[in-house]
Amino acid sequence: MARLFHYKIINDAFGDPCVFLRLLREKRALLFDVGDIRKISFNEILKVSDIFVTHTHIDHFIGFDQVIRAVLRRPMPLRIYGPENIIECVYGKLKGYTWNLVADYPLQIEVYAITKKGLKGAKFVASKGFKIERLKKISITDNIVLQEPLFKVKAIELSHGIPVIAYSVEEDFHININKVELQNLGFQIGPWLGQLKRLIKENYEYDSEKMLKPKNELLKITVETPKGKFSVEELFPLLKITKGEKISYVMDVSPTEENIKKIIEFVRDSDILFCEAYFLNKDKERAFERNHLTAAITGNIARQARVKELIILHISPKYIENPQDIYKEVELSRSGILL
Ligand SMILES: [Zn+2]
Ligand SMILES: [Zn+2]
Repeated sequence: MARLFHYKIINDAFGDPCVFLRLLREKRALLFDVGDIRKISFNEILKVSDIFVTHTHIDHFIGFDQVIRAVLRRPMPLRIYGPENIIECVYGKLKGYTWNLVADYPLQIEVYAITKKGLKGAKFVASKGFKIERLKKISITDNIVLQEPLFKVKAIELSHGIPVIAYSVEEDFHININKVELQNLGFQIGPWLGQLKRLIKENYEYDSEKMLKPKNELLKITVETPKGKFSVEELFPLLKITKGEKISYVMDVSPTEENIKKIIEFVRDSDILFCEAYFLNKDKERAFERNHLTAAITGNIARQARVKELIILHISPKYIENPQDIYKEVELSRSGILL
């Protein structure tokens, strides 16, 4: 079955780190960091519903204006997540422009600061000239900052001299149709299978014993099939359930023991990890001064966390002539040769 997520890397490893994550069949996308986004098309920006900002250093935030300009007439709200100062930073950006001509524009921007005490929110509405409106604080459980029917986003705070947020997106579970069983039981392929999948995603959980359990025991859900009405549970033999995809995004982190431990725990078993590898191990003093990870540390994190695919996104311009040194160091430490 096709995946839910499809990623696009916007710049090379010496450009600003940014990942555009399309939700297939959803006409929606998530954006991780919003630095130089000139290579994202206008139509793609229009699909962005949520932006996950690690921190507001200029290489991670300068593209915000470009997003606002693209989505200004859009009815779908824009949500922005980031570290504790994200509300001030968005407010400051919005205050940099004059908004006397947007009274009939539908855009709403919700901004959520991820703090140890929960999500602090604020809303900026075009029709009110993007005045700041504070929202009620929301508590965070299990690091989940966004829970949707098809996926969830988790976040943790790390240190980069300043607070920086690492994110992971997890598809709850993946539903495949067992075509042989479908044929054996005399069902025909059709749009009803899509509806069945959606009903299961919305109403069931996948627990550690690899079983589908209803979120609400009392709820009986039925679906119209080409052979008549069936309860969702009667159709379970048609399904093959597997663990959903996990994609993690970690940029600009001090190479401290505490951070490394937290990252390994957080990105464990990711299918894809986007991570910086800013300095070589021989420049680790510089890495400490500048609060960035080294290639050796990044490789080590990927190995210990059993990450399936590691994609390096943020390398210091210092290595522009010899980027292969960074990649080689990542691979050596990832395979356990260099520790
Ligand atoms: Zn930074
Ligand atoms: Zn950076």
